[in-house]
Amino acid sequence: MISPHHLHALAAAWSLQAALGALEAAAKAAIAGAVNGSRGSDEIPIPSQQFGRRHSLGGHGDPTADRALGAWAPGGPDPHAAALGGILRELDPKAALWPGAPGMDPVTRIRQAIPGMSPHAAERTATALAVLDRSARRTLGPWAPPNRRPLRGPIPPTCPACRCRATLHIQTAGHEDAWTVVCDGSQAPGQPHQPCLCTGPGCPCGMEGAVAGIAHIWPRAHVLGAVGGAR
Ligand SMILES: [Zn+2]
Ligand SMILES: [Zn+2]
Repeated sequence: MISPHHLHALAAAWSLQAALGALEAAAKAAIAGAVNGSRGSDEIPIPSQQFGRRHSLGGHGDPTADRALGAWAPGGPDPHAAALGGILRELDPKAALWPGAPGMDPVTRIRQAIPGMSPHAAERTATALAVLDRSARRTLGPWAPPNRRPLRGPIPPTCPACRCRATLHIQTAGHEDAWTVVCDGSQAPGQPHQPCLCTGPGCPCGMEGAVAGIAHIWPRAHVLGAVGGAR
């Protein structure tokens, strides 16, 4: 069964994959700028070819590639390449614990394993991936891909659990059928933020396998069905 822990882990994996793709693009752009800008037309091995071979999102690469790449960036190591290298070095040994095709990138490998994980393992995976995702997105700053937006409609949908309007957000990293909806909770003026947490079996969230204390998350289709009365 796909528990809320599994949904959080899958959403974190998709989000991290999008962030790593953006880091890779930024690193490649910085290297290309360094090669084309400050190195003139000298015939030199182009580091971006090395980067391509490393196949960063194809995983299991040369752990020194990011340092080699960074050396080409004007003013020192490129922060995007360094961050990408650091995150991949953390992911590779974790991914190696799970089956996967040769050359499969570490995030895909972990993501494909998530549905078969125990809820406890999925919870730990969700936490670990979310930490890496936040790190990648901090490095990206305003260049982080926008993988989250408020859930809107002709009538703003209400959270099935806390009944708040305009607190539901859709997480849009990955394929559309992998999108999830989360509730940001509520905050009355002058009051502390109230997270929207599940109360377990019987919770109005309607989730199968509801887990007390976990932040609410639904598959997108589940929330749209509930809002439309189709559930
Ligand atoms: Zn809520
Ligand atoms: Zn709930």
